[in-house]
Amino acid sequence: MQKVLQAQELRAQVATVLIAAGSSPDEAVIVAANLVMANLSGHDSHGVGMLPRYVEAVLEGGLKPNTSVHTVLDIGSMLTLDGQRGYGQIVGEQAMALGIARAQMHGSCIMTLANAHHLGRIGHFAEMAVAQGLVSLHFVNVLSRPVVAPFGGADGRYGTNPCCIGVPLKGREPFLLDFATSRVAQGKMRVAHNEGRQVEPGTLIDEHGRPTTNPGVVVVPQSNGLFGALRAFGEHKGYGMAVACELLGGALTGSGTWHKPTDAAVRAIVNGMLTILIDPAKLGTQAVFEQEALAFIDWLRAGPVAPDFDAVQMAGEPERAARLQRTRDGIAIDAQTWRDMVAAGARVGVVLAG
Ligand code: NAD
Repeated sequence: MQKVLQAQELRAQVATVLIAAGSSPDEAVIVAANLVMANLSGHDSHGVGMLPRYVEAVLEGGLKPNTSVHTVLDIGSMLTLDGQRGYGQIVGEQAMALGIARAQMHGSCIMTLANAHHLGRIGHFAEMAVAQGLVSLHFVNVLSRPVVAPFGGADGRYGTNPCCIGVPLKGREPFLLDFATSRVAQGKMRVAHNEGRQVEPGTLIDEHGRPTTNPGVVVVPQSNGLFGALRAFGEHKGYGMAVACELLGGALTGSGTWHKPTDAAVRAIVNGMLTILIDPAKLGTQAVFEQEALAFIDWLRAGPVAPDFDAVQMAGEPERAARLQRTRDGIAIDAQTWRDMVAAGARVGVVLAG
């Protein structure tokens, strides 16, 4: 049976496990808040269900608690940073704080972050930037298991490589586009598998390269020990975007790309991220930018709504609506995810309540 917990209680429980796994109380609070915010935003794939994976990665040595971002090179408006396998929620926030300060000073900043452990929801970092009035672009690669097949390929060759663009809108909530370049996020397959659900046709191929609707093919090894794979969104276009994320997030940052068989048992998830920050005020187009952006969004909304839709929405709206609803009604955790979280707690000597 699923559990429903209020955000505050969930944050406290997750933080207790993270502390037992070696994090300082301050670090645990930040990581727990980030995971619970993903649940609140409607992205359970990047929420507290990641806790067991994080605990395993810490115990294995691939994720290093209490680790800060390291500046490799700093030429003012360009920053080369290394996350040193620290919690992505920590080194990612530290990296963004550095990048935001530079963009405010110079008008823009190009920041690379290599070797961060799982950064979670990339939108979190764009939200930090748009809160300061900055435009924020992010290209990310994922080294854990090659779960996505290239367009025209029949096995997984790379990760779910997310891309994110945040644009501040004067007097309005920001445009916040944040998505995996796979047709769906891998974590959503874990959630569907745990809930015993089939997924949309066209999402997956099995371990033989054949279409399937069984999310288990990318969650548990199949009969031949191999996994199936996710497909890219948008056919060749989404695939091209994913390759761009690998080239920019993995190669340009120095974090590393996919090019060799991997050990599927390794639990760490390593993200590389290229971030580009722009201050519209320093670009000299601030007034026209504000005016034209709002006019365009009003224009979009003024159109007729298609059958089967309630409204034309902007990216970022579904997450904000989910936050209101889940803050009020609580966060539902499916039974398997909760069992996995309890087991993760037990591995570090914590008994999760409830
Ligand atoms: P998704 O398919 O739900 O798409 C989300 C995006 O689409 C959001 O910007 C949302 O506001 C927008 N959107 C949704 N419905 C809309 C509508 N009706 N109209 C307009 N816009 C709409 O998300 P996803 O691809 O499953 O990704 C989920 C999360 O997973 C993201 O936060 C992503 O950063 C994260 N992720 C992280 C990693 C990692 O390694 N750290 C890897 C992959 C994905």
